[in-house]
Amino acid sequence: MFSEKMVQKLESSSWIRVMFEEGNRLAKIYGADKIYDYSLGNPFDEPPVEVQESLKKHILSGKPGLHKYMSNSGYPDVREKIAKKLEEESGVSLTAENIVMTVGAAGGLNVVLKSLLNEGEEVMVFAPYFVDYGSYIDNFGGKTVVVPANTSTFEPNIDEFKKKISAKTKAIILNTPNNPTGVVYSEDILLQMAKILDEKGQEFGTTIYVISDEPYSKIVYDGIKVTSMIKVFKNAIVVDSFSKSLGLAGERIGYVAASSNINDISTLIGVFVYCNRVLGFVNAPALFQKVVADALNVKANLEDYTAKRDFLYENLTRLGFECTKPQGAFYIFPKALIPNDLEFIKAATKYNLLLVPGTGFGCPGYFRISYCVRFDMIKNSIPAFEKLAEEFK
Ligand code: PLP
Repeated sequence: MFSEKMVQKLESSSWIRVMFEEGNRLAKIYGADKIYDYSLGNPFDEPPVEVQESLKKHILSGKPGLHKYMSNSGYPDVREKIAKKLEEESGVSLTAENIVMTVGAAGGLNVVLKSLLNEGEEVMVFAPYFVDYGSYIDNFGGKTVVVPANTSTFEPNIDEFKKKISAKTKAIILNTPNNPTGVVYSEDILLQMAKILDEKGQEFGTTIYVISDEPYSKIVYDGIKVTSMIKVFKNAIVVDSFSKSLGLAGERIGYVAASSNINDISTLIGVFVYCNRVLGFVNAPALFQKVVADALNVKANLEDYTAKRDFLYENLTRLGFECTKPQGAFYIFPKALIPNDLEFIKAATKYNLLLVPGTGFGCPGYFRISYCVRFDMIKNSIPAFEKLAEEFK
């Protein structure tokens, strides 16, 4: 028999993937242009021209050694460049030694959790949250503690957060700009959380790490500034990737950066590097380390995402959907028109609309739209949303 635990997990696997597969099935029946697939956060746009130019430059350079093994932490020159950028943003001194290149943010999260967790220790997540966190925590014997959503603002629920911190809390995972709401947590909330973590750490005599999962930190609208987590939290560990901001999701490139203010930081970094190796990643993809180092200041097409956000937000609110206007990422998270979000997204498939239920993010009663898709698909989908809204009037 295979691993019984994994076979069981398969049955409760990601709703995002379930809806994506449903989209593929419907596309075969009705034709891809008749399907409004809002399931996956897989940017439709090709990577920016700077990324394509850099890729060509490195491939054509003929420099020997570009495809070989390297230090498990990645190329030192690439890590140095990332460290300097984070140092500028945070005001905390960082060097290449603070950085480990990883196989996307997903690889980075697994490296960090393996490095931190002892059996039975708790990791706190804030609903609605990226569904795979629970599986990653479980990979290393940790226990996921969920802080229920504050649906009035979709910022962390501070009272519940405070109540749920225990002597076993090893880390919290923050994700801002947030998947699935698009909300950017305010600096005020983050400072309140930092104070609570300090107080609770002293009360329990523990260190509580802040894992900041930031693959959307470069996708923000209306001039909003994303707060540096290394500036706010003493024990900050940033996990970032280029999947979303540079449209490189399939290339699996990201990094982990740990604050110099963490006690015994050199041991922690040593453990990260060891875990990167023994999890089987060995090192992050070589060529794309070089490419992202060239493109650290390149932004996603924010104008295009802003136009898509505005168009969807205006149409959904016109149709009576309640939703918070996203400030970042490329998701919008409206309230379903009936309490049962699973029933609601099932009804949506009748109009060829592929949506993801809030249940899959620990927040039932809502649904996620991923708008990193073609604009014409968004425009063509509005009559389908109209029919869906009409059905539940
Ligand atoms: N964290 C969040 C919040 C995400 O939405 C995703 C992907 O959708 C990831 C992590 C994984 O990103 P990556 O492709 O960099 O592994």
